[in-house]
Amino acid sequence: MEPVLEIRNLNVDYGLGDRAVQAVRDVSLTLHKGEVLGLAGESGSGKSTLAYGMTRLLAPPGAITGGEVIYHPEQGSPYDVLALSDRALRQFRWAETAIVFQGAMNSLNPVHKISTQLTDVLKAHEPKLSEHSRNARAREMLKLVGISTDRMDAFPHQLSGGMRQRVMIGMALILQPQVVIMDEPTTALDVVMQRQILGQLIDLRERLGFSVIFITHDLSLLVEFSNRIAIMYGGRIVEEAPAATLYRDALHPYSKGLLGSFPALRGPRRELSGIPGSPPDLAGMPTGCSFHPRCPKAFEPCSTAIPVLGRPDIPDGAGRSVACWLHPAEQPVG
Ligand code: SF4
Ligand code: MG
Repeated sequence: MEPVLEIRNLNVDYGLGDRAVQAVRDVSLTLHKGEVLGLAGESGSGKSTLAYGMTRLLAPPGAITGGEVIYHPEQGSPYDVLALSDRALRQFRWAETAIVFQGAMNSLNPVHKISTQLTDVLKAHEPKLSEHSRNARAREMLKLVGISTDRMDAFPHQLSGGMRQRVMIGMALILQPQVVIMDEPTTALDVVMQRQILGQLIDLRERLGFSVIFITHDLSLLVEFSNRIAIMYGGRIVEEAPAATLYRDALHPYSKGLLGSFPALRGPRRELSGIPGSPPDLAGMPTGCSFHPRCPKAFEPCSTAIPVLGRPDIPDGAGRSVACWLHPAEQPVG
């Protein structure tokens, strides 16, 4: 599969100098065309910071301190998003990579009809489009996200939360971006509505061919809707694998703990165990493997040496990577 976006060794800090804390450390990830890449981890693991960092939406004191984010790495003119001018970046953000944030449905403008909010995005980015074409595109987009076009002239408060979230997804897709980043996009909605909206988005992805980075703390949603999953802990990726493989056979003790905290999707019921302890404090990250104070499998090297993310030395290790001393990397990543 063709890569669309390649994050290489990304570092993000909060604060400066001695007081800086490391929020994202040495993250390398590749997003392929048409795939849904799920990003999981407890809150504070660096998932949102990674999304904000790779699109340069970090607010100070957050700052990127290293790495590259290469768009279209294998096409004629790849470029580093981190090096774009402000103008090029604005265009990139809607037209190439769109983002739907947690609670986005509350960011609709309450005094404008949803038709106006959709056509305004087109006006700003495709100024040559006629009014007629803009309206047609807005109508088509609403239909795609499952909203009847007789709601075109509704105001946000006249729509349910689920419908407002669909409008936000429509706004994100209206310029036909190749990458859509969703950060807890449906967390504010009930479970049935979450599944419905995500299912619809996956159908759209098949029809329109975009790729998705899907961020949530809810691993059951990720397993259901992602092709691949990367698990973050303490700002680092600790495991990455195809979704089905991870669900069946996670290697990292933290991934196993996360999977043990939600009910089995199908098959025999499993014991819900959860993970004892709490996520690490970024300002006082444990030495070695940052999971070691909570890890039931910790042994001699874990508290002193940071395990490298890489292909594990197991028979079906291809396409997987893990950072854990139980599975020393055969081939490091990045
Ligand atoms: Fe546990 Fe050690 Fe693996 Fe870290 S490196 S997850 S502490 S076994
Ligand atoms: Mg978050």
